[in-house]
Amino acid sequence: MVQFYNTLTKKSETFSPRDPKLVTVYCCGPTVYDYATVGNFRTYTMTDVLVRTLRHFGYTVKFVMNITDVGHLVSDDDIGEDKMEKGAKREGKTAWDIATFYTKAFLSDSRKLNLSEPDVRPKATEHIAEQIAMVQILLAKGYAYQIDDGIYYDTAKFPRYGQLTGQRLDELKAGARVEQNPQKRNPTDFALWKFSPNPSADGKKRDMEWKSPWGTGFPGWHIECSAMSRKHLGDQIDIHTGGVDLIPVHHTNEIAQSEASSGKSPFVRYWVHGQFLLVDGAKMAKSKGNFYRFADLEDKGFDPLALRYFYLTAHYRKPENFTWEGLTAAQNSLNELRKQLVLMRKSGRTSLSAEKLEKVDMYRKRFDEALCDDMNTPQSLAVVWEVVKSNIPAPDKYDLLIDFDEVLGLKLNEVASVASEEIPEEIQVLVKKRDQLRIEKKFAEADTIRKEIESKDYVLDDTPTGALISRR
Ligand code: AMP
Ligand code: ZN
Repeated sequence: MVQFYNTLTKKSETFSPRDPKLVTVYCCGPTVYDYATVGNFRTYTMTDVLVRTLRHFGYTVKFVMNITDVGHLVSDDDIGEDKMEKGAKREGKTAWDIATFYTKAFLSDSRKLNLSEPDVRPKATEHIAEQIAMVQILLAKGYAYQIDDGIYYDTAKFPRYGQLTGQRLDELKAGARVEQNPQKRNPTDFALWKFSPNPSADGKKRDMEWKSPWGTGFPGWHIECSAMSRKHLGDQIDIHTGGVDLIPVHHTNEIAQSEASSGKSPFVRYWVHGQFLLVDGAKMAKSKGNFYRFADLEDKGFDPLALRYFYLTAHYRKPENFTWEGLTAAQNSLNELRKQLVLMRKSGRTSLSAEKLEKVDMYRKRFDEALCDDMNTPQSLAVVWEVVKSNIPAPDKYDLLIDFDEVLGLKLNEVASVASEEIPEEIQVLVKKRDQLRIEKKFAEADTIRKEIESKDYVLDDTPTGALISRR
């Protein structure tokens, strides 16, 4: 019985899908105007663990995560620059080139973090017709209206508006920022389609624009997720994920668009939101300049999977503070776990006594219970270490940990399957010391240790999943 905390009902609920044969999951993907931060990847890793958890418990999952490659304005208020056009200006390229480049970078980082490949990864620019069709339905049903700069959603027409934050429309209106567009009927109304600025006004033309029944322009940010989730998962879906910052505007607007156009409610049964990765107590964000990218970690000698381990040490609904010390501790734990797996793998198999068999079952049950408890990954890691320290036979520990790794995603099988022979303790100590020096960027000292290891007839091989050691 998997339990998730549902932002919609503000309760922990037992998960039950609409169709027991197929669970549908949608996650808002990156806006590809720059590199993703390790903050963004915390949310994507949470979503990956969620998908893996469902699969671990035997569900068949259809997982969709989009690429936002158009129409995401720098503010939530439908004003300011389009993020893609802004990226293009910054780098002297077209918005199309920017999208291609940063999509590639995102996919490469995702693979390094061992994030499950979504079943569909739709791009907003490839779903313009679907977005226009949804705006047409909203207009026909009286939920939208046209003003000088675009087509807007009339939030006053949707009585459940604000349900996700638990606020009524009048409360939202009172709290809204100073009205920017006097033609909007309500401060919470948002753009479904924006018209391109008239080129004759400043001589500039947008890189990305499309013809529509209302004039040339581009879609609003929110409509893409409603249109793409409908196309690939249907009118109603089981689980929708994202970071907590998406609750008040983006996800609130997705609900309004999807439910008004389909006439079906709820659009999403379980809303699962991840808390932020922080730096010095503040949200890690590109706009704040307090962010790290994947490459920053790799430059310091960290293994991308150490970041994954680091995320798993915190519950996804609690803020997690990013520090280099924390990441180093995660790297050390991961190295130790890998070493233990290599040792386990080498032990010969003996038959399991009834008492040990019971223990194996008990650990399996406790690991599953931790996951069922709203994906309590710190607790599931605690069970991992209990297994490592337990007295059950090494090959059974190994099998158990490899099973657990289906959810943890630390690629433990890859490390353990390449190591083939017993490495003396003395050499293992040297390898560990060298790993630590590399993390501290003391490469000259690390190299001295490599030579010492080689002088003892062992060779080191640095792989993306850590150093491998074998006899020369
Ligand atoms: P964006 O590209 O800004 O739309 O963000 C992509 C995803 O990352 C969204 O689900 C955000 O909620 C999430 N996100 C942004 N900043 C952070 C952070 N510091 N920690 C965790 N998730 C974040
Ligand atoms: Zn979205």
